[in-house]
Amino acid sequence: MQKHFARFEKAPLNFGKSGLALPSSRPWAPFVHKSAVERQPKKPDTLCRMLQETAAVVIGSGALGSSVAYHLAKGRLSPVVLIDQHELASQTSPRAAGLSSAIRKSELMTRLARLGIEKIRGFAAETGEEMVYFQPGSLRIARTSGHEQQLRRDVERGQRLGVNIDLVSPAKAQELMPLLETAGIRAATYVPEDIYLEPGQVPRGYVRATAKLGGTLLPNTRVTGFGVKDGCIRSVITDHGEIRTAIVVDAAGAWTRLVGSFAGARAGAIATRHQLISRSRFLESNLITRSRVWSIAMYTSGPAMAD
Ligand SMILES: Cc1cc2nc3c(=O)[nH]c(=O)nc-3n(C[C@H](O)[C@H](O)[C@H](O)COP(=O)(O)OP(=O)(O)OC[C@H]3O[C@@H](n4cnc5c(N)ncnc54)[C@H](O)[C@@H]3O)c2cc1C
Repeated sequence: MQKHFARFEKAPLNFGKSGLALPSSRPWAPFVHKSAVERQPKKPDTLCRMLQETAAVVIGSGALGSSVAYHLAKGRLSPVVLIDQHELASQTSPRAAGLSSAIRKSELMTRLARLGIEKIRGFAAETGEEMVYFQPGSLRIARTSGHEQQLRRDVERGQRLGVNIDLVSPAKAQELMPLLETAGIRAATYVPEDIYLEPGQVPRGYVRATAKLGGTLLPNTRVTGFGVKDGCIRSVITDHGEIRTAIVVDAAGAWTRLVGSFAGARAGAIATRHQLISRSRFLESNLITRSRVWSIAMYTSGPAMAD
């Protein structure tokens, strides 16, 4: 496990200015499918001029945008263009802690989260791209009555939706996570199916897979506006030119609202700030552990601890 993460940390993707340069280190060699490289010229402005018209433009190459682009390309919507103002797959998504938990606050989110876990488990088979993940399960700890009620609701909702979740005693929780202090624990839940992974694998894998399906990648290309006529978007305006399209996906992450406002839309998304502390090997256990009081998540063997 350590070996895998060491490789992720030492071999960041180098997309180059055009985004089409092959990464220097071997693990990422298949990043751009050879035919895609041959088809695509290197300068974004040349690309924009050549593209002129496309079936769909996806703005943002994080986990969300790269996944949408891949699934559109897989669904034979062609051509698909994936645009990012920076290097591809370089912003929030690769900086996350990489925890993927099945239990969420609503039924819809729980179903989506479980689908996400299944997608990660089947990622390599579906896309042909490597996916290293760990499935140690997770503990959630409550030390206040409010958090205890929340965990009890999680158990009720999770079990109703078929998630393997249950309350465990403080002693059992400590057995699973020896670092845990049991004093003051009012409730703890354990979910064996929860996973974690080096999160950059998701957008990087989807970007590569999109390219293999013939999608066009436009890194270092900022969307600055939209051409709108009769209330419909007709084109995407970038700092390298304009692309005509009828379908636009705003997957700009923390910038979703800003990008939507270019078309007069009001996106219901708000960015929240997280903090990331990295330490290597600070725990003996392999379990993901979350404390509701401190809002801290911990796991071992990975590159990060996040709150
Ligand atoms: C420290 C930290 C820890 C986290 N831990 C977890 C976790 O354990 N589990 C979990 O599920 N989630 C976690 N998250 C949340 C998760 O990382 C985000 O929800 C997710 O990465 C968002 O993906 P995205 O594709 O929406 O955004 P991003 O990855 O940010 O992608 C958006 C892209 O849009 C591009 N863009 C923006 N504006 C424009 C424009 N005008 N033109 C062109 N491109 C543009 C950006 O450059 C960016 O690349 C964490 C987040 C942080 C910060």
